[in-house]
Amino acid sequence: MNNELYPSWIELSKSAFEKNITFLRDYIGNDVLFSSVIKGNAYGHGISHFVPMAEECGVQHFSVFSSDEAREALRARTNEESHVMIMGMINNGALGWAIERDVSFFVFELDRLEFAASEAQRIGKPARIHLHLETGMNRLGLEKSQFKDAVKLIKKNRKHLQVDGICTHFAGAESVGNYVRIQDQIQNFKEYCSWFIDHDVNPKYQHTACSASALNYPDTIMDMVRIGIAQYGFWPNRETYMNFMKRSSDINKEYKDPLERVLSWKSHVMSTKKVEAGEFVGYGNTYLTGRDEVIATVPIGYSHGFGRNLTNVGIVLINGKRAPVAGLVNMNLLTVDVTDIPDVKKGDEVVIIGHQQDQEITVSSFSEMRNNLNYEVLVQIPSRIPRTIV
Ligand SMILES: *Cc1c(COP(=O)(O)O)cnc(C)c1O
Repeated sequence: MNNELYPSWIELSKSAFEKNITFLRDYIGNDVLFSSVIKGNAYGHGISHFVPMAEECGVQHFSVFSSDEAREALRARTNEESHVMIMGMINNGALGWAIERDVSFFVFELDRLEFAASEAQRIGKPARIHLHLETGMNRLGLEKSQFKDAVKLIKKNRKHLQVDGICTHFAGAESVGNYVRIQDQIQNFKEYCSWFIDHDVNPKYQHTACSASALNYPDTIMDMVRIGIAQYGFWPNRETYMNFMKRSSDINKEYKDPLERVLSWKSHVMSTKKVEAGEFVGYGNTYLTGRDEVIATVPIGYSHGFGRNLTNVGIVLINGKRAPVAGLVNMNLLTVDVTDIPDVKKGDEVVIIGHQQDQEITVSSFSEMRNNLNYEVLVQIPSRIPRTIV
């Protein structure tokens, strides 16, 4: 990538990802299939760059939300063996496409099951399905009352339907407030799974765990996990982090975060300017200099996802120091006060998210400023900012 062409860019750290994946593999165990969840443009990291990097670290299973994301993942993969699974939206009209390309998909409606069977028959290749069961989230999932019909359909179409998995999703495993609800879901899932097995439907994998449930409820790990946020180096929330650290420190008396952020967002100082005390900076009158100041402009604005609500609040790193946003965040520009940072000049590196020397701007601090979740901030990083692996 030619950095010179772009006002800002995103770096993905392969060594950070490797560290996370090593930790997660150790934690879940070697016999458990690790599926890397890459919906939402790989949580803002960028599917086309993230998938090949993950493959180089041994990942061969990817989970997406929808068929368009599946297509992107197939295009991005460098290993023909890498499998793509759709957890959410696929139209019946796209099932044939998925079957032909060996993409597996969740089935949470009898209608989709029927359609998958007839498409598989037409194409002459089995559909790889995961029965997504309703266990208490009440969002998507086959209802208990539909199980019998599902089994009938599967038995009638043995040749056309390959049951790769039986699965469910938890309604908020990151928060202890949902403890009872999650326990009920785990119970239901185990009971329903046994019922299917008793009725001769044997899935290759039983899977339920996202990052939070794998970390908070180890018995949800089963044969396979679907890990999103943790592989990118983020804890689902503070509570999960605290719980986990507490448990592991009881065992090894260490307080070291095993996860490392994969993504950094960087730019350069575009220009600097001396402004006398008592002058307004930028549009309107939101920022008045309280002394003689040095103002640096950075070519990032709300069109790049740096929210207007970070006006006079946001912070970036320059020369290893924290530089506060001074004035309104513009569409393509922001101004920062660098009076206390010596020798800032055009071309100096600016870190919006990530490390610089011993300072760090985390997505969570960025998001706390914005009052958002990690998940939400990450996926809002625009896909047109170029990504590069470091
Ligand atoms: C997003 C998602 C996951 C991964 O969740 P994380 O909290 O990011 O680990 C797992 N399963 C399903 C069905 C999902 O939609």
